[in-house]
Amino acid sequence: MSEHHGSCHCGAVRLVLRDDPVKAASCNCSICRRIGGLWAYAEPVKITIEGAGVAYRQGDCMLDTWHCGTCGCTTHWTPVDPAYQRMAVNLRMFDPALWQDLPIRHVDGASF
Ligand SMILES: [Zn+2]
Repeated sequence: MSEHHGSCHCGAVRLVLRDDPVKAASCNCSICRRIGGLWAYAEPVKITIEGAGVAYRQGDCMLDTWHCGTCGCTTHWTPVDPAYQRMAVNLRMFDPALWQDLPIRHVDGASF
């Protein structure tokens, strides 16, 4: 398994993914479609976030979506419930070589 390093544009928030993504997810829910994030889901133990981000919690949402307070890039999301063993990084914060050829799964989050 490889370790992949990503960061927001200014470098204040850095991400380490200890997993090799085999697919990416694009979601059409009200927040994801605005962010334009390309998500790689993983267990929280496989992801390390360095640096301080800003969390945004959608009204009734189960997730906190994080962005850099300086450059504004959306970096990852985390579950509100710490027992939920899944979070995601925004693959666009990583070298395109990691994700540009991955199959994209279109998640219909808008219907939930
Ligand atoms: Zn930044």
